[in-house]
Amino acid sequence: MVASSATAVAGLSTAEVTERQRRYGSNELPAPRPPSVTGRILTQLRDPLVLVLLAAAVITALLRDLSDLAVILLVIVLNTTVGVVQEIRADRAVAALRRMAAPAARVRRDGADVTIPAARLVPGDVVRVEAGDIVPADLRLLEAVRLSVDEAALTGESVPVARDAGEELSAGTVAATGRAVGEVSRTGADSALGRIAALVAGQPRRATPLQRRLAGLGRVLAFAAAGLSAVVLAVGVARGQPLGEMLLAAVSLTVAAVPESLPAVVTLALALGAHRMARQAAIVRRLPAVETLGSVTVLATDKTGTLTEGVMAVDRLVLPDGTEVTLTGRGYDPEGSAEPAAGADTRRLAEAMVLCNDAALAAPGADQPLWRAVGDPMEAALLVAGARCGVPADLRERLPRVGEVPFDATRRRMTTVHRHPAGGHVVACKGAPDVLLAPGGPVRIDDDGRRRALDAAAELSRAGYRVLAVAGARRDESGAEHDLDLLGLVALADPVRAETADTVAAFREAGIELVLITGDHPATAAAIAERVGLTAGPARVALGDDAAAADLRTEVFARTGPEQKLTIIGRLQHSGAVVAMTGDGVNDAPALRRADIGVAMGRGGTEAARQAADLVLADDNLATIGRAVREGRRIYANIRRFLVYALSGGTAEVLIMLAGPWLGLPVPLLPAQILWINMNTHGLPGVALGGEPAEDGLMHRPPRRPGQAILGGLAARIAITGTLITAAALGAALLARHAGGPWQSVLFTVLGLAQLGVALAVRVRGGRERNWGLDAAVALSLALQLGALWLPWLRDLLGTEALSLPQFAAAAGFAAVPGLVTLLLVRRRRGAEQAGRPVAGGRTPYAPPVATACDEGATTPEGGVR
Ligand code: ADP
Ligand code: MG
Repeated sequence: MVASSATAVAGLSTAEVTERQRRYGSNELPAPRPPSVTGRILTQLRDPLVLVLLAAAVITALLRDLSDLAVILLVIVLNTTVGVVQEIRADRAVAALRRMAAPAARVRRDGADVTIPAARLVPGDVVRVEAGDIVPADLRLLEAVRLSVDEAALTGESVPVARDAGEELSAGTVAATGRAVGEVSRTGADSALGRIAALVAGQPRRATPLQRRLAGLGRVLAFAAAGLSAVVLAVGVARGQPLGEMLLAAVSLTVAAVPESLPAVVTLALALGAHRMARQAAIVRRLPAVETLGSVTVLATDKTGTLTEGVMAVDRLVLPDGTEVTLTGRGYDPEGSAEPAAGADTRRLAEAMVLCNDAALAAPGADQPLWRAVGDPMEAALLVAGARCGVPADLRERLPRVGEVPFDATRRRMTTVHRHPAGGHVVACKGAPDVLLAPGGPVRIDDDGRRRALDAAAELSRAGYRVLAVAGARRDESGAEHDLDLLGLVALADPVRAETADTVAAFREAGIELVLITGDHPATAAAIAERVGLTAGPARVALGDDAAAADLRTEVFARTGPEQKLTIIGRLQHSGAVVAMTGDGVNDAPALRRADIGVAMGRGGTEAARQAADLVLADDNLATIGRAVREGRRIYANIRRFLVYALSGGTAEVLIMLAGPWLGLPVPLLPAQILWINMNTHGLPGVALGGEPAEDGLMHRPPRRPGQAILGGLAARIAITGTLITAAALGAALLARHAGGPWQSVLFTVLGLAQLGVALAVRVRGGRERNWGLDAAVALSLALQLGALWLPWLRDLLGTEALSLPQFAAAAGFAAVPGLVTLLLVRRRRGAEQAGRPVAGGRTPYAPPVATACDEGATTPEGGVR
């Protein structure tokens, strides 16, 4: 326990700061250099699929097949360009997100406390650090109150160590308890974190699970296609085709069958999705979170500030003799009144509320019309209440604080010791009533008084109030938490946010179960849960102490400590749920990391929680999580859309090359023609499909089954559509040959146009916005496809012939069939789903995700391509 001394320091002046910023630079670690464009190009060229193409280029060059060589080189150049551009765009989006989530620091400058981006700190700055803050630079401590620091980031030692005034704090460590003021000694690369930055900066960019899974899929497909191509080669050669030509056909087929734009589509969809979420106040800190969001089945939410406004007001005081005092006034305006007027007992209670308090009130000013809370809103509300009882906040100056035990979420109480000007000490303590009044606790009280006080507290809790007990003592020595007198109970109202009930209903509609996990009293928690519609009937409540054994259908966990949150999350995950969890404290960080999606508050909450989270809510609002989930589902659905589209096209190309020779079409398509179609269809419309909007019903169905393979349920659709395209193209070619027409060009045209038709068929219907990018991409692809028929130099390059208008019209008719049939199938499936969908809201709360997760045969609609 240390006296305040450094708070009087004025800090640096603006002029000094500017000077030092020039001298020392900004407080940032040197960013790892982004790969150069050449480096990116080389990476693209090392891709196995491109290597196959390069091999094909060599073969064509050896065969002196210059037109094919030109097309192959064109495809390589285009593919590489698209890949590099997408990658740069994705990197930019991610870098922008990182800037938004950058840490802040509280610093004293020109005599005032301000919050600035930690990057702008300079040596000599006076910085304030509280439990939950990440130390923003190396500091020399001027003042420390029960400060302990978690230095795991530097030493790997995760047990917090105590630090006192005069000692050093290292940048990157986390204040676990207490608070401190320190002077910045070193910043940026000179700091402790900077010295080990080489280790941090060297971390490779990790692919997301989806990206890894798709890379695996790509490899499987490449091998399958290569195997099939070998068959095509063998068959062709056996039938007497020239070896060179067949070799080339086989190689192009391999490339054609594989959706080589897959990595670009996925990366771009994720990065741009994260970007869109940021515009809606949901800042994604790790890219994989985007895809996980779409599969969340359980949301574990806290109460204060998330379900509720986090704007508190004291409604009532209850004195030990049972007298109720009602307070009135507006917001954090200290003006107001107490009824009945404050007597001696009320004043003693009010004094303790003001003394045991770290908050402040900010008067209205030019930029804000209302009184505001500075610090913990609940403590600010206590200051306001004190003032309304005639005890202004400046009492804290007359009775200087000489010792304290800061609040922490495990102890659920806070105590301060003050020197009285008339001699002796005043002790003030506040906290959860069940903690303060526990037998053997800090308050001295007889059993009768304890029972009465706890009954009164329980009754207020049931009415939805957060209840605090306040105790105090006047004594000679400065001992803190023992033999205190109960001074009264405080009932704080924290209004439920206006949008909470709707948001909770929307989550339930989307098949996401909500669990309330709070440090508050069970009765308060249950009252709020019922009020916002989180439960259908009376809430099923368990205490945090029972976290390891409680029924997993529990809806409300009350009096929950941070470790117990970890237990609850672990058990939910073990039962198969994909869990998102909100948290704000430094102690929540492990649970935030453990959860599939850790969600932190951007305004309230601690820096440590923010840095541990996957998602930061810039507006601290539950509804924002809903929007992020919707975005996650949209992206996942679009990737599946792309897969149906690209893989059915690839399937058709393979089938045509395999079946053609048996139908008397020896080389159905020339290599250059396959590559042309492939580039035209997979490239433009494929990438554009990633930008499709959300379908209307997207949030009216359950989440996809956890662990569902990305291709789950798509194989049949791919096979059907692929076969349809094959049939249309081969049928048209056979008819053309029968009529003596240019059958290869007909086949070429039908194959290309049919795939564009499928792109239009799988696009979203019933979305609110239209993805004009897809329209543009299809139009451009169509133009290129037509150019291949009617531009003489392209004809020379691709070996195509012009079609007459009737021939083209017939080809277009054939090409329309696969798209139309796919469209019909999509409609049928959607209709069946809507008829069979369980009516939302009629379910028993919190049961399904676990059951469906384990039931492999369950036909859960999975938010994919409809
Ligand atoms: P929540 O989940 O609602 O955010 P917390 O973990 O913050 O709950 O708080 C748990 C309990 O600790 C509260 O119900 C209250 O009784 C007590 N408490 C919270 N903040 C303080 C404080 N600043 N001083 C004393 N007691 C507090
Ligand atoms: Mg809290």
